[in-house]
Amino acid sequence: MAARRAPAIRKNDTVVVIAGREKGKRGKVLFVLPARERVIVEHVNMIKRHQRPTQKLRQGGIIEREAPLHVSNVMVVCGKCDRPTRVGVQVLADGRRARVCRRCREIVDRS
Ligand SMILES: [Zn+2]
Repeated sequence: MAARRAPAIRKNDTVVVIAGREKGKRGKVLFVLPARERVIVEHVNMIKRHQRPTQKLRQGGIIEREAPLHVSNVMVVCGKCDRPTRVGVQVLADGRRARVCRRCREIVDRS
């Protein structure tokens, strides 16, 4: 089992790309692929796939879809201060853990 990491990116987080071809783009996380340490971000890193017609998809041709990005190439954008940030953990009074923005200390969400 992998070592316990700093709180990761989660589905529905807004992230910004900090490296590579898509640098500067923002989007919402649609899927997290923990085993591969990758995320799929809405409208970011689009690739064209050549799709053959199948039973399910009668219309073949070229379809565009998001390709996974490595988590090290994206940063979470804080919903409060609207800046890319690293995310920390804060233990709340009731013992639950919350993810916090390391810039403005606001709670990103609760777990
Ligand atoms: Zn913030």
